[in-house]
Amino acid sequence: MWDRRKILARMGSAGLGSAVIATVISNKLWAAASIKPDQASALLVIDVQNCFLPGGSLAVKEGDQVVPVINRIAKGFANVVMTQDWHTEGHISFASAHPGKKPFETIDLAYGKQVLWPDHCVQGTDGASLSKELSIPQTELIIRKGFHKDVDSYSAFTEADGKTTTGLAAYLKARQVKRLFVAGLATDFCVAWTALDARKAGFETYVVEDACRGIDTQGSLAKAWADMAKAGVKRIQSGDIAG
Ligand SMILES: [Zn+2]
Repeated sequence: MWDRRKILARMGSAGLGSAVIATVISNKLWAAASIKPDQASALLVIDVQNCFLPGGSLAVKEGDQVVPVINRIAKGFANVVMTQDWHTEGHISFASAHPGKKPFETIDLAYGKQVLWPDHCVQGTDGASLSKELSIPQTELIIRKGFHKDVDSYSAFTEADGKTTTGLAAYLKARQVKRLFVAGLATDFCVAWTALDARKAGFETYVVEDACRGIDTQGSLAKAWADMAKAGVKRIQSGDIAG
């Protein structure tokens, strides 16, 4: 016959066993599903600016939906850098600068094919401001790009001429950053070009898919994912990042 102490001891040991098993299982799941940002990791938040959000002149569909996701994952990062598209008036990437051309048409420029856009992110305008809904006070650097009137810059690293640098790679290397997590707008342009250049510069690179939204013109979104996969960019979801 069991006395009360023996029953309690048995229950305790069974309970402990279950807890150990549960911990082992959850650790295994955690290890498979989570990536933990460290001191050598940085989150790059690309162009979350009013012009690209609903109501803006170059609104990305559901663009505002990236903001809460980015705010959430940013809590896990010691290092955060944001970018800001920052054009002159009459910038070469604007359809309005090319008589007879309409937004989303392409033209050939000295540095290659350029998609023409509605006027957007003109320096000092409200449209160029970062979303007020972003809540990432630890952001260390905001890098502006596209400020040369005759050259566009989707990438946070290198302008569209393929050679003029923004200085970002040098900054990140000086800060000992090795892994980059890219989020923001738009997946198929500034996010993708940034991720591709990050690989070229030697960074381990992740794009957080649900923290981005695309424009998708003329098959651009599928092409961007294919190009990124080929370059070794890792496609992950925000839930893969440990908070
Ligand atoms: Zn632009």
